[in-house]
Amino acid sequence: MPELPEVETIKRKLAPNVIGKVISDIQILSPKNFIGNKNDVIGQKIISVDRYGKVLVFGLNNKKYLNIHFKLSGQILFSKNVEHAVFKNIIPFTGGNKMPANTTRVIVEFTDDSGIFFNDLRKFGWIKVSDQPLKPKGVDVLDNKFTPELVSSIAKKTRKPIKVLLMDQDFITGIGNIYANDSLFLAKIHPQRLSNSLTDQEIKLLYKTIKQTINQGIKDCGSSGADEAFILPDGSRGGHQRNFLVYEREGEPCLNCKTLIKRIKHNGRSSFFCPKCQTTHISSLQLDQETRLF
Ligand SMILES: [Zn+2]
Repeated sequence: MPELPEVETIKRKLAPNVIGKVISDIQILSPKNFIGNKNDVIGQKIISVDRYGKVLVFGLNNKKYLNIHFKLSGQILFSKNVEHAVFKNIIPFTGGNKMPANTTRVIVEFTDDSGIFFNDLRKFGWIKVSDQPLKPKGVDVLDNKFTPELVSSIAKKTRKPIKVLLMDQDFITGIGNIYANDSLFLAKIHPQRLSNSLTDQEIKLLYKTIKQTINQGIKDCGSSGADEAFILPDGSRGGHQRNFLVYEREGEPCLNCKTLIKRIKHNGRSSFFCPKCQTTHISSLQLDQETRLF
């Protein structure tokens, strides 16, 4: 699933290509993936491209918004020639380099013959028309409101494992499994540590490592990990998978101490960690109780 750095990368690459473009038509190939009335946006000009958490938002000149959520396998591709769209690379899940593909759900066409393809293999993603941008409840990691004090107040309120809390978009938005695992590794915190057991010093460090991993992810143009779902709007891959610290590195040596990276499953998601660097200050009894909770 694209996280903050992946959606931010899409936003930055897409904005110069679509701002000022006028929507000439929208082809809805899968009604489940388009919510709202397409006639509210046809004929309108895109005046802004923003990102709120993991949601990409096009602002239109009639004060309507087109919101895009990528969920598990959403992709956006931009072509200057929507009728004959050919990309340099094979597009993951489609088996080819031409669009539309069998995973294309919506096509947004512009008056200059360019356009956007919204692909989604698993069909959980969506494009929604709205009167306001669809902003998630939580605070964005790149927002000024994201501070060590905020992380502290969120962490102290709950007994959830810290990794589960970091990924809860109602508190902090933009962090998914990749950046949660790697920030916890850098902060030397076990992913199952109960959030209210973290010391002030650990929280300060965790705040810094979240910013560090997210910023590195943006610098690397996002992560195209083992599932290869994420691609840039030109069909190329991101580069952050080459800089994963523990994520998807089960059985490989820790970059710090050479101990083999472990993977555990909790809350339905894999957690990757170094059993030596990320020591947990909670007893095995507490761990048992916590496992039972989830
Ligand atoms: Zn280690």
